[in-house]
Amino acid sequence: MIIKPRIKGFVCITSHPAGCMENVRQQAELASQLSFPEGKGPKKVLVIGSSTGYGLSSRISAAFSNNAATLGVSFEREPKEGKPGSAGHYNVSAFQKLAHSKGLVAEDINGDAFSNECKEEVIKKAKEMGGGFDLVIYSLASPRRTDPTDGQVYRACLKPIGMIYKNKTLDTDRAEVKEVTIDPANDSEIAHTEKVMGGEDWALWTRRLVDEDLLAEGCINLAYSYVGPEVTRPIYRNGTIGRAKAHLEEVGKELNLAMQNACGGNAYVSVNKAVVTQASSAIPVVPLYVSMLFKVMHELGTHEGCIEQTNRLFQDRLFGESSSLDLDSAGRIRLDDWEMADQVQQKIMELWPKVDTSNLMDITNFKEYQQEFLRLFGFGIDGVDYEQDVDPVNPF
Ligand code: NAD
Repeated sequence: MIIKPRIKGFVCITSHPAGCMENVRQQAELASQLSFPEGKGPKKVLVIGSSTGYGLSSRISAAFSNNAATLGVSFEREPKEGKPGSAGHYNVSAFQKLAHSKGLVAEDINGDAFSNECKEEVIKKAKEMGGGFDLVIYSLASPRRTDPTDGQVYRACLKPIGMIYKNKTLDTDRAEVKEVTIDPANDSEIAHTEKVMGGEDWALWTRRLVDEDLLAEGCINLAYSYVGPEVTRPIYRNGTIGRAKAHLEEVGKELNLAMQNACGGNAYVSVNKAVVTQASSAIPVVPLYVSMLFKVMHELGTHEGCIEQTNRLFQDRLFGESSSLDLDSAGRIRLDDWEMADQVQQKIMELWPKVDTSNLMDITNFKEYQQEFLRLFGFGIDGVDYEQDVDPVNPF
């Protein structure tokens, strides 16, 4: 079939296998340029949330910089005859193909990582791989979670807490800057969001891996968080999702002690920069901020996407010759240091009041945002022939 993008709001309901392959290939090429001192890089890596965004790039950084064996966990839609699978599905297949062609071990489980069944399947596969994970990355982003203890479904929401939030936002379909007003979350919505995106599930994963003795001596167990700028603070860091991230960060401190006791390892939270992913495109105000951020960081020569971030994490913070964790006062790794630099944030504060529909294309890089969004689904990538017939079920 010929596959074209079909965008509905902040998702694209189709995806292109050849474009996803090219996406993964390009990221692998960047990762292969890293180098670590003998014996320092990751050798066996578990990535929970491995098919798109930061989880995918983390896995690519590990596999293609250091030939790490990887086990990926994700929740993706399989293709059917005449109906493409999700982008994450093709990313996983593309990753497997490229990794196997280099002789690397790459195993995957497609399932609901919040469920006990999925955890048991992963444990089984991890044992078959001989255990000994020296790096675990927890990179789930999900709008809902079914609690495995009682079957209750929790839904995350993106709302401010204790205040009505009014700000500019971007209608990405119409390229229009508009005003958005979001009512505050109630207590139940706050609690539900924490259940989904807080640290509870990360702790459950860690406990299972420790109990099954699947972690190598000195293993690093890492989850991702975000802080962000003044303009998104009420909807992000001080909102429901920020409350959940604060919970994740607190849980990280407990897990750090548990890791030290269990295997002489550590648990950290890395605060990453804002990038275009399926998760971030759903957050009000963020697409406008990211479009502006692209412009400002390109001008300063500090622009990064997921793979540049995870490569820098590996090279400068975790495994490189002169790497240093450089933790902040709350004990977090700050990969968002370039985003949060004064020079960048002052420029954002200067541009934010001025941006409207008429100057959107001049004072932000909205075009690049749109291209990046399409790329997530394998579209708009140079060198891919989108007129060519593809088999959505067995594309590679
Ligand atoms: P993403 O949407 O690109 O990826 C989410 C991943 O989670 C996918 O692999 C998906 O398959 C998997 N997933 C979702 N629900 C699942 C389930 N029930 N079972 C198994 N897998 C499931 O998201 P992302 O933006 O890369 O976010 C990953 C992490 O990075 C999140 O913790 C997020 O808060 C953090 N982060 C993101 C940004 C950003 O700007 N995107 C910035 C800083 C930190």
